[in-house]
Amino acid sequence: MGSFFNVWPFAHSSICRTLKSYISRFYRSLFFMVLPVLMILMSLFLGFPAMAEKLPIIFHKKYDISFWGLEKFHPFDSKKYGKVYRYLTNHVGLQPEQFYTPARVTNADLLIVHTQDYLDSLNSSSTIARIAEVGVLSWVPNSWLQSAVLEPMRLATGGTVLGAQLALENGWAINLAGGYHHAKRESGDGFCFFADIPLAINKLWQQNPDLKVMVVDLDAHQGNGTESIIQDDPRVAIFDVYNSFIYPQDMDAKQYIRFDYPVRSGIADAQYLQLLDDHLARAIDEFQPNLIIYNAGTDIFEHDKLGQMKISAQGIIKRDAFVFGCARARSISILMVLSGGYTMQSAEIIGKSIENLLKNVLKVVGQ
Ligand SMILES: [Zn+2]
Repeated sequence: MGSFFNVWPFAHSSICRTLKSYISRFYRSLFFMVLPVLMILMSLFLGFPAMAEKLPIIFHKKYDISFWGLEKFHPFDSKKYGKVYRYLTNHVGLQPEQFYTPARVTNADLLIVHTQDYLDSLNSSSTIARIAEVGVLSWVPNSWLQSAVLEPMRLATGGTVLGAQLALENGWAINLAGGYHHAKRESGDGFCFFADIPLAINKLWQQNPDLKVMVVDLDAHQGNGTESIIQDDPRVAIFDVYNSFIYPQDMDAKQYIRFDYPVRSGIADAQYLQLLDDHLARAIDEFQPNLIIYNAGTDIFEHDKLGQMKISAQGIIKRDAFVFGCARARSISILMVLSGGYTMQSAEIIGKSIENLLKNVLKVVGQ
């Protein structure tokens, strides 16, 4: 096809070539100017965070615990953390660069909430085996357990510390691990090595000693480690709903629960959610915390043999949305940690629940 420039007397003249090159350069620069604007407009209309904006969600690829297949002897899915992360990247569309990566917690920090004797005791494989509830680990060299078990725990604890700071800065944060609420000052227990929640609170107090924190512990088990470390510090109020017919039945720690809701085995969605509806908002309004640390254990799930409760997957999603909704309605910062719940369905339930929070409660991700 001919064009205006191919028509005599312009064809092949130098004026024609110069004009052609100007026009093609003009269109090229126009294209590169318009493209970013188009991308931003598209991301706004489609609801994706523009340019993969960072979200206060914390994950490390070493969160998962693997001891060369020995984890198969354990009733827990010790790889749920990576599965939740992959749900968020594969199904929700989050990009790897949108997550925060935690630093491992230092010994100096751990000594804020633990004794030196306890930390020294972790140099014995039998101590680690007892806390992890995997007897055969007693026979594994301690140096291996340090990297396979304690390294993920140190990172996850660092994740809760980082999450508490991010929650205060952003209004919310989620650590895709943490919630080791059975760890006490001088001992670990029930798969909990380091008291990440009391440590995160103490780290915040180094900057702001007056900060008030409410721990909302909705894992199926009583959060006796957190309670025994925090004790009756007036800057913290613990709201604990737990099955009082299962481990740990810690009567000494129970005295430190300010809002204490023991429930029975077999409790189902309607009664459980009603209990939260009746009491959580009232407790928050009474204590007026600056930060809520939400220990969102999923062992309340109906097929979790350890928790022995009968809450459906949908019930867990409603619970998480309710807790976040209570915090957001009052402009109180909230950090969620995953805590217990290691059935093979747990990771998917957590992934769906976080998806619901991001889309429908926090509204930081499009529908
Ligand atoms: Zn639990």
